[in-house]
Amino acid sequence: MDRVVVVGGGVLGLMHVVQARRRGYEVVHLEREAGARGASVRNFGLIWVSGRAPGAELDLALRARQRWEEIGTAVPGTGFRPHGSLTLAADEAELDLLKQAAAMPDASQRRFELLDPGAVREVNPALRGYCTGALLCRNDALVEPRLVPAALRSHLLAGGSGAEPAAAGSSAAASGGSAGSAGSGYTWLPGREAVEVAPGAVRDQTGTWHGGDLVVLCPGAAHTGIAGPHLAGFAVPPVRRVRLQMLQTEPLDRRLTTSLADGDSLRYYPAYDLPGRLGLAPQSPAAAAAAAQLLLVQRLDGSLTIGDTHSDEEPFPFDVDEAAYDHLRGRAEQLLGSSLPPTRLRWAGVYSQVTGDDLYHRSQVAPGVVLVTGPGGRGMTCAPAIAEETFAERPSPAVPTASKEMP
Ligand SMILES: Cc1cc2nc3c(=O)[nH]c(=O)nc-3n(C[C@H](O)[C@H](O)[C@H](O)COP(=O)(O)OP(=O)(O)OC[C@H]3O[C@@H](n4cnc5c(N)ncnc54)[C@H](O)[C@@H]3O)c2cc1C
Repeated sequence: MDRVVVVGGGVLGLMHVVQARRRGYEVVHLEREAGARGASVRNFGLIWVSGRAPGAELDLALRARQRWEEIGTAVPGTGFRPHGSLTLAADEAELDLLKQAAAMPDASQRRFELLDPGAVREVNPALRGYCTGALLCRNDALVEPRLVPAALRSHLLAGGSGAEPAAAGSSAAASGGSAGSAGSGYTWLPGREAVEVAPGAVRDQTGTWHGGDLVVLCPGAAHTGIAGPHLAGFAVPPVRRVRLQMLQTEPLDRRLTTSLADGDSLRYYPAYDLPGRLGLAPQSPAAAAAAAQLLLVQRLDGSLTIGDTHSDEEPFPFDVDEAAYDHLRGRAEQLLGSSLPPTRLRWAGVYSQVTGDDLYHRSQVAPGVVLVTGPGGRGMTCAPAIAEETFAERPSPAVPTASKEMP
């Protein structure tokens, strides 16, 4: 059987594994940590169609959402749910912009619907805050980011490929946590850091070479290491790193039927680059200082994931800024119209983002070796479609399968 080697246990790496298994490849999967620890487990889990730019970005997100739905059916442990989202307007200017968004030519592809305040409460009865209206996006969806990697690995170790109609392979005993292959065609090797690249192969820190017909490097925001030589030396680096602050509360006493976004999200997402954006009031100083928007997601246990802030100023602080959290909690309380449960967790995450017009970065760094990173804030959403494109544009076959004696 032909073989694919994937480096990186985040969502991009995992989706490349899924695509490779769907195509019948044997897969060896390396991750330097015990499991995914990067952006893929630190995010909201938003499969976010609403804010995507018209054209190529929306197409990519819609294809990816379809794949997520298939994966969610085959692997219920990912927590996929077609929850939809509400972007809430706090004044007339934000509402005008939402009206323009609801009238875009691709609004029906996004399944946008403009709601008045009464309809907002019908759609999401848990909302008790003031709003002038909202944009419902029925195509937005949700997964549980902290559960996705282990759930998918268990499924793959049990012989699944994320395409089965109903949970095939999900009930098997494979743990998804420790190394293993269980004869499934999928070998998961945690604690293995790829440190050297050769045509059609990578070497890990133990000296073992892993070779295949294709090697896919998905190192996330690790822009040094194996990716370093291929991302350096440009007048403008092809990718940059962005750091975000997030929090999670204790469970809320009621269920939210949708995810939520506030009017600040209209200032950042490209879908809302419409004439009405010019009419928006300036952001509050606290939001502007942290480049913050409010996104809020209810987890399966009832707790709320709330974020986020944005900074690309390196070196990044190693600590988190409480003023940003005060702002985010305050905004969330305005939207919900009630006080929030206490904060349970705070964390920061870093993603890799392309600096140019591409939606993500893919380059061939050696014969049979591709580097895929840089999807930025769309990575959790778009990963399944990005991985599909890697296989659609498969580079020329590499040298024969490597052995331990490889250079
Ligand atoms: C706070 C936050 C919120 C976000 N919210 C959303 C959201 O709701 N929706 C959305 O669509 N996107 C969101 N994003 C973006 C999304 O999370 C990322 O684009 C995506 O997770 C990137 O996945 P990845 O696999 O490339 O990177 P990562 O998840 O960082 O995974 C890379 C993995 O590679 C491993 N690795 C690195 N180098 C090596 C090596 N040499 N050898 C072996 N392993 C290696 C790392 O340990 C890591 O586990 C968010 C990001 C952040 C930070």
